[in-house]
Amino acid sequence: MHELSIAQGILEVVEEEIKRHHLRNITKIKLKIGELTSVVPEALDFCFSFLVKDTELKDVRLEIEKVPIRGRCLGCGREFSYKDQDFYFLCPYCGSEIELVSGKELYVQEIEGEDG
Ligand SMILES: [Zn+2]
Repeated sequence: MHELSIAQGILEVVEEEIKRHHLRNITKIKLKIGELTSVVPEALDFCFSFLVKDTELKDVRLEIEKVPIRGRCLGCGREFSYKDQDFYFLCPYCGSEIELVSGKELYVQEIEGEDG
C-alpha cells in the first residue's frame, strides 16, 4: 500500500531525529504533504498508528498540513493554484509552459517533544 511505505519512511525520519536531538515524550508530528502526492491523510494516519502501536510513539498524533498545487508560468511569470480536476500544463493567460511551485511536498516539518 502506498501510504504504508510512506508511513515507514516518516517513521525512519522521526526515529533518526529523536536520536539526534535526544527527544523524549513526543506528542505530535507535523507533516507537510502536497496535493500532487495523492496521499490520503486518514490512510497515512492509520498506517502510522499501526507501525507504532507497540512503541513509545503509540500516542503520538500526526498533524497533516496539505500543500495546495501551485504553478508559475515560465512566460509571463503569473502564479496560480489549481485543483486536480483542472490540472493544466500550459499557462491559461499566455499559453507558455508552467513550472511547479508547490504540491509535491512530503516531509516531516516538526516533531514536538522534550529535549533530553
Ligand atoms: Zn503565462
